[in-house]
Amino acid sequence: MKLKIDKDKCTGCGLCNTICPEIFAIENQKAKVLKQKTDNNSLKEAIDICPSQAIILT
Ligand code: SF4
Repeated sequence: MKLKIDKDKCTGCGLCNTICPEIFAIENQKAKVLKQKTDNNSLKEAIDICPSQAIILT
């Protein structure tokens, strides 16, 4: 599984970073993936809560 951010959709709201600070950081008003840690329990919550559907897990 690969985790990435659709930078065109991301608004930099910071919710993903609040929920999963070990996975997501905010840099230049966009989220970025710090760590490919796709077995994290709160990752699904972050994906669901992202208002822009910018978190992509493939
Ligand atoms: S929750 Fe979504 S829109 Fe907000 S910073 Fe994270 S990826 Fe971007």
